Amino acid sequence: MNQNSNDMKENQNIKVHVLHCGQVQVDIATPFKQKTLNPFAYAGIFRGKKHQVIIPVSAYLIEHPKGLVLIDTGWDSNWNILEPQGKRAFIKQNGRVIYQASKPILPEGQAMDEQLRSLGYTPEDIDYVLITHLDLDHVGGLELVKNAKNIWVSSEEWKAAHKSSLRYNSKLWENTKIEPFNFQENGIGPEKCSLDLFGDGSVQFVSTPGHTVGLTSVLVQNNGKQLLICADVGYAHKSWEEMILPGYTTSKKQAFASLKWVREISEAPNCLGIFATHDPEVKPQVVVL
Ligand SMILES: [Zn+2]
Repeated sequence: MNQNSNDMKENQNIKVHVLHCGQVQVDIATPFKQKTLNPFAYAGIFRGKKHQVIIPVSAYLIEHPKGLVLIDTGWDSNWNILEPQGKRAFIKQNGRVIYQASKPILPEGQAMDEQLRSLGYTPEDIDYVLITHLDLDHVGGLELVKNAKNIWVSSEEWKAAHKSSLRYNSKLWENTKIEPFNFQENGIGPEKCSLDLFGDGSVQFVSTPGHTVGLTSVLVQNNGKQLLICADVGYAHKSWEEMILPGYTTSKKQAFASLKWVREISEAPNCLGIFATHDPEVKPQVVVL
């Protein structure tokens, strides 16, 4: 095979970079719903330090022949609770209740703009940023990539974020050109609807609500293989293996249906992997399909 045909073949591959934008310290009831009398356990309220765990915060860069797609943005670069000024900045922007529920850890070099730079890209190079949902460990770094060409979130999530200022902090995106997109009814996913980003089925933004109202997963399919970026539908492999819902759900029924769909994808013989944002077993890596 000559050099040219090699190049052509390579151009048709899709590369998914799994990035870790630091970590988050949370109560163990956040990733895995617990049977407890404390209704706020997932937020770490009235709970001891012994329940705290540190889990990764992932984001993903998809190098696709038709464009560069970033999934989620991690933390803002000023937030690192291991430094006093980082802790102060986080509390000032998000409040003490949010700090109690989730504490950002962001070592140098792991903020989204730094990660892109080390891959040879600038934010302007990105064609689409998808925010899977508007929780701050997913949208916190949006300012760092606000010069991307398109920034999208599902219209369901967008509407929900305008209703709850307790959970959502609109300051994290108000200076960006984020805009809502609509899912189409097409039989894909637990709600039977998705957005086919490039119109060829290779990147599907799939409606997978339950943890939040408009939570979006990303199904990547190419050359007979597939992988799923499932955001916070489940927090780790045991979530879909043992059907353990996330601690916080807007609808248990929807969360269960979404998790069941993730489980089905995980069992497909051509599935290269399921990538949950906070899965401690998933290390930074590149997957080619
Ligand atoms: Zn999360």
